[in-house]
Amino acid sequence: MKPLRLLVVEDELKIAQALHDFLRVEGYAVEVLHEGSSVVDWVRRESPDAVLLDVMLPGKDGLHICRELREFSSLPILMLTARVEEVDRLLGLDLGADDYLCKPFSLRELAARLRAVLRRCRTETVVDPRCEWQLDAERWELRLGNQSVPLTPVEFRLLQHLMGKPGRVFSRPQLMRQLYEDHRVVSDRTVDSHIRNLRRKLEVFGGDPIQSVYGVGFRWEGTTGPA
Ligand code: CA
Repeated sequence: MKPLRLLVVEDELKIAQALHDFLRVEGYAVEVLHEGSSVVDWVRRESPDAVLLDVMLPGKDGLHICRELREFSSLPILMLTARVEEVDRLLGLDLGADDYLCKPFSLRELAARLRAVLRRCRTETVVDPRCEWQLDAERWELRLGNQSVPLTPVEFRLLQHLMGKPGRVFSRPQLMRQLYEDHRVVSDRTVDSHIRNLRRKLEVFGGDPIQSVYGVGFRWEGTTGPA
């Protein structure tokens, strides 16, 4: 089997070298860039399987890079940050990273997070059995009839979970666990903001297939699509 290809973007040479050596031993093919300005073009050209992206970088910072990558790619992005207070933003709507590690981190922890992110992002197509909704894992989009909308990885996983069991109510903590499986502290508002953004996207279908259940959570009611 071909090794998975990782891009590591880290300007501290010692850390970059340590990541490179460790991930090679873990069985990945690893490329390293030390500054930010060339990252987006590199990813476009090379389509790696995942990116480990430092936040503070010369050239262009990791936050800008992450946002630009999300405009054309749903590849797994693991952010490396020295600032805990950035975390909500990293995982939130405007950036859409898949996970983060706070520096200093252990290499063992990095390996575990990376495996989790890669596993979560290996997705399957889900079809709502009661109607024509289709969640397409290859195109990262939701389709109904001739209409489709593109989804971020987090939105995709959220819908995958809800649509997998139509009509069933999921609480916010249940959805949080699905999105960020190691139960770290990301506020409940994160789920709400993703749902809000999804609803905006789904307006093109007419109606709102995601129902809020007051005081409990959310459920997929796909039948509210256009007739
Ligand atoms: Ca840095």
